[in-house]
Amino acid sequence: MNIVLFGPPGSGKGTQADNIVQNFNLFKISTGDLLREEIKNKTNLGIKIKEIIEKGLLVSDNIVNELIKKVLSNLKKESVKKGLIFDGYPRNLKQAENLDKITDVDKISCVLNLKVEKEIIIKRILGRQMCTNCGLIFNEYFNPASKSNHKCGSSFLKKRSDDNEKTIAERYETYLDITLPILDFYKRQKILYEINGKEEIGEIFRKIRVIITSLQAWLCKTYSYK
Ligand code: AMP
Repeated sequence: MNIVLFGPPGSGKGTQADNIVQNFNLFKISTGDLLREEIKNKTNLGIKIKEIIEKGLLVSDNIVNELIKKVLSNLKKESVKKGLIFDGYPRNLKQAENLDKITDVDKISCVLNLKVEKEIIIKRILGRQMCTNCGLIFNEYFNPASKSNHKCGSSFLKKRSDDNEKTIAERYETYLDITLPILDFYKRQKILYEINGKEEIGEIFRKIRVIITSLQAWLCKTYSYK
């Protein structure tokens, strides 16, 4: 089954995507991570991407779609069959239409919309830390890294360069203008699930688990899907 994690920046998509990967053995495709990888490699493309991300704007569809295409072409068929979880994609209607084409036979089964208000998002983003070694996401105020939940050590924990107040404000505007309207596209397909993203991480995941488990059971019954 293929899942889209939807929500404003800082709503917890990355954290919940990691929880889903660990519990349901799906493969995560995070367009933000793919773009940051290009930046890390300091390619010409990476330099351009960095400028766009730090302005809080969206990177062009061509670039993002190409990165996804590359990941999918390198993925083993079995991994694709087990299911994909998209984090940060789609971010506009054209990308949503592209996603429908990519996932062709195994359509998107559900879009999980993490709903959180702007004030909470700002607090969360300002405390966000990302491990440059394992990719796990923590928050110095709400979900700090410790010896029990993170093995790489604190020296790998870094703040993202777009996690500052000015860029957050731009990213939120981009979300409202361009990304949020996609929800209607998924509402019409009746695959949209609203989740209160203000709750504690474990509680949000408990709700996500119920949705995914029941969808898996339904798919299994309806299509003898494994
Ligand atoms: P994220 O890690 O999902 O918060 O993404 C960080 C930044 O990468 C965003 O603010 C955008 O500038 C860019 N980005 C991520 N995903 C996409 C996408 N699907 N389309 C365009 N730009 C994206």
